Amino acid sequence: MVTVDCHLHLGLIDEHTPSWWWWEQFGFEPVSVGGDEIIQFLDETDIEIGLIQGGDIRRTTYHPTRDDRNMYVPNDFTALQCSRYPGRLYGVIGIDPLVDVHENLTEMERCVEEHDFRVLKLLPTYHHYRPDDRRLDPYYEKCLALDIPVQIHLGWTRTIATTMEHQRPMHLDRLGREFPDLKVIVAHLGHPWVDEAIAVVAKHPNFYTELSGWGPYGMAPHDPVGETYRALKKLKNYGCLGKVMFGSDNTDCRETYRLADQMSRDLDGQELYNEEVYKDIMGNTAIKVFGLDSIREN
Ligand SMILES: [Zn+2]
Repeated sequence: MVTVDCHLHLGLIDEHTPSWWWWEQFGFEPVSVGGDEIIQFLDETDIEIGLIQGGDIRRTTYHPTRDDRNMYVPNDFTALQCSRYPGRLYGVIGIDPLVDVHENLTEMERCVEEHDFRVLKLLPTYHHYRPDDRRLDPYYEKCLALDIPVQIHLGWTRTIATTMEHQRPMHLDRLGREFPDLKVIVAHLGHPWVDEAIAVVAKHPNFYTELSGWGPYGMAPHDPVGETYRALKKLKNYGCLGKVMFGSDNTDCRETYRLADQMSRDLDGQELYNEEVYKDIMGNTAIKVFGLDSIREN
C-alpha cells in the first residue's frame, strides 16, 4: 500500500521560527524540524511519502512585546530537504501572495521546474485575505499552467494575528465556478466549519480535502476520533470519501482513522470504509492529485 502524508511542516527554531511562536500560542516545546526529523516521523508512523512545506508569514506575524517575528522557512530550505530524500519528500511552495505578484509567480515556476515541487500552499487567514479575492487569480492561473493543485488553509488556528473572517470554506465557491479545472485542497476540512467545507468539497468536482491538525494541540482537541468519525461519515454520505487525503500536521494521527472506523462499527454496525477506500485515503488519491504516479512507474 502506498502511503502519503500531504501536510508536514518544516522549520528550524530561531533560524526560521522564533521559539515563542510555538510555546506561547500552541503550548508545546519548540522543536526544529528538517528533513531528517520528517523522515524519522514518517518511518515511525509507517508513511512512505511526505509533502513538506515552509512558508513566509513575516508580514503579519505579531507579538505585543517581542521583536523576533521572523516566521520564514524559504523554499530553498524545503528544496534542500527534498533533494536529500528523493522519492520520499516533495516540496510545497510557500509564498506571501500579497507582496510581489511578479516575483511570486517566478518563484512558483522556479520551485516546480527546478525543484519539482508539487503544490502551492496558501494561508488566507495568516496573510489576511479571502481566498476568492481577485488579487489571487494570477496564482490560480499559474497553478493551472504549471499543472499543480493549490492547498488552502481553511479553518481555525490558535495563532493570534490571524483573521477569522478569512477562515470560511464557503469563500472557495467562486474558485470552483471560475476555475473548474483547478485542483483545490481544503486543508483541515475547514474545522470548525466542517459542514461548510463538506458542502464545497461535495459541490466542486476538483475539490479535495484533508483532516490534518485534528489533534491534541490543534483543532478538535478534546474528541479527535469522534469528530473524525462524524466528518468522514458525512463525507461518505455525500459520496466524497474518494476526495479525502491523509495529512498529519506533524502529529501522529494515523490511528485516528482506524479508531473512527471502529466507532462506526460500534455505533451503527457498519464499516466507515472498506480496504480499498482506506487505501485511497492513505495514499492513492494523493498519488493522483500530486502527480506522483509517473514517478512511481519509473
Ligand atoms: Zn499545517
